[in-house]
Amino acid sequence: MATIPWLVDVLRSAGVQVVVEGDWLNRMRPGSFDPIGVLWHHTAATSSASNPHPALNICINGRSDLPGPLCQALVDYHGVFHVISAGRCNHAGTARASGPIPAGDGNTMLIGWEIDYNGVSQEMTAAQYNASVAATAAVLKQLGKDSSYARGHRETSTTGKIDPSFIDLNVMRSDVAAKMAGGPAWSSIVDNATAGRFTASTNWGTSSYSGQRYGGDYRFADPVLASDAAWYKFNVPAAGNYRVDAWWPANAGYNASTPYIIATSSGNQTVHVDQRVTGGQWRILGTFALPAGDANRVAVSRWSSAPGLIIADAVRLTRV
Ligand SMILES: [Zn+2]
Repeated sequence: MATIPWLVDVLRSAGVQVVVEGDWLNRMRPGSFDPIGVLWHHTAATSSASNPHPALNICINGRSDLPGPLCQALVDYHGVFHVISAGRCNHAGTARASGPIPAGDGNTMLIGWEIDYNGVSQEMTAAQYNASVAATAAVLKQLGKDSSYARGHRETSTTGKIDPSFIDLNVMRSDVAAKMAGGPAWSSIVDNATAGRFTASTNWGTSSYSGQRYGGDYRFADPVLASDAAWYKFNVPAAGNYRVDAWWPANAGYNASTPYIIATSSGNQTVHVDQRVTGGQWRILGTFALPAGDANRVAVSRWSSAPGLIIADAVRLTRV
């Protein structure tokens, strides 16, 4: 089952305020999750400035007739995204075909925002709308999809759902499209757990030891004067200059001179980092000219004469 451990970073990079609700990386329903789009809902609870997220507890824990989590994120009265889950949630039920979304298991195909307003005598706030547009644009960009993959529950429901009320979903999609065209630069994150985009030999172990890890775990290997790199594959949208950032958990026992290899338009370039320090955050490796196309683009090499474990966790490209 896939997860979307990049969700919090993608939202924050888009300027969306985020509150992480506990163990969101491991809170999910069993079953498949392979999202291709975003689904908007309203909670039917009445929110206010002094009670901004009345449905938050239900969205995390579920109801007697429907186990939680009930959405990947709840959008409160102030437009703050409360991120609940990186995996499958009970929000969409069985979907009928809508736009490019085929009929099928909505909880497999769709990431859900529960926008906390009652939808009968209360509209969503401007802050909720603007944050939901920005978040949807950023997530669809991360998924490699256009604005037509943003839908409302009333478009996919097979049971007569009316949410989200009081907005025109075609206008919503055009606002998402405008945000995607003029919004933040293209950016993509590949983690060691990203399906189909990370490759390493079995010489690389898997660990969740450090709390500074990106996502659920990371890979590690002893340094060796031989070629046994871990590769990160990116679908670079166009030839141009891209900033390359890396994330590693730091530890005194890790490697002081870990080589990152960037496969640029003019050949491989190597940047060495000290993985004993500055962990748990994005660190800039540099800006490089990259060709277009889907290919192995960044590697962590084991070829270091320094002692200590070589760590391969997450890599991010951002067009500049
Ligand atoms: Zn709904």
